[in-house]
Amino acid sequence: MPGCTTCGGAAFYTRRYSGETLCVECFKKSVVEKTRRTVSKYKMIGKGDRVAVAVSGGKDSLSLLKVMVQLYAPRRLPIAAISVDEGVAGYRDEALEHARSLCSELGVEHTVVSYKEMFGFSLDEALSWNEERDVSSCSFCGVFRRRAIDEAAARADATVVATAHNLDDYVQTFMMNLMHGDVARLGWMDPAYADGSFRIRRVKPFMEIYEEEVALYAYQSDVPFQSVSCPYMHEGLRSEVRDYLNAMEATHPGIKNVLLRSSLDVISRYSGTSGKESVPCGSCGRPSSGGLCNVCRMKATIEEHVKSRP
Ligand SMILES: [Zn+2]
Ligand SMILES: [Zn+2]
Repeated sequence: MPGCTTCGGAAFYTRRYSGETLCVECFKKSVVEKTRRTVSKYKMIGKGDRVAVAVSGGKDSLSLLKVMVQLYAPRRLPIAAISVDEGVAGYRDEALEHARSLCSELGVEHTVVSYKEMFGFSLDEALSWNEERDVSSCSFCGVFRRRAIDEAAARADATVVATAHNLDDYVQTFMMNLMHGDVARLGWMDPAYADGSFRIRRVKPFMEIYEEEVALYAYQSDVPFQSVSCPYMHEGLRSEVRDYLNAMEATHPGIKNVLLRSSLDVISRYSGTSGKESVPCGSCGRPSSGGLCNVCRMKATIEEHVKSRP
């Protein structure tokens, strides 16, 4: 293998879609630089913003925290970390430990919000009550997690929440929305889309970086991450879409980049058009499509189950 295209050093990784070969240091720098360009291209962070990185304790989110601190600490832009403790025994504790240790190493303030304190039940409890399982555990958990992240971000006094969704996640979500016939949701994927009813913006600084490269960055940067997945996870369609995209990429290097560009092009045409009129939730006052918001509706269902227990 020839040496690093940039510095001539020992080759470590070949980026098949561009033909570059990189040494470890040049590879890591390229990930940081790509992130910086994405943030600037989509104006994800502006003057006076305070950024909270949502960290789960997995490799993507801890890598994002490390990259954001490298990029913005020298420019005195405050970076904090926020985590949600869903309350999954034997799973989340370890992940939060990794998050805590990286935060203290980087000198980053870390705010943790738990389902238990916010909603009155942990995910373990909620799912044991939800015996009918009429809603899949992930979509159920996702609704609560969004709300908990908002709360954590507010406590951390943040104006922007950065999540670690990478290019693969983004393209998968795009394709899944198509496969679910959920074209109206595409507008929400616009990186420039800001719903006026949410005070805190959400951005995805890794959205132009392949999942594989984020993983390599984590391994090469000594990021201490959890590799066990959530015991409730069932990805179904998403993992099929992931396998399909990876198979396409193997025979057509760069096709995921093309799909990202196409997705963004389609999404931009739907941006701002997806909003059903939002009205305040009858219980918590947050935006809803009428009556109760999703969080309050699911919470009521769970509480109903608790009461009916002997
Ligand atoms: Zn190099
Ligand atoms: Zn509500």
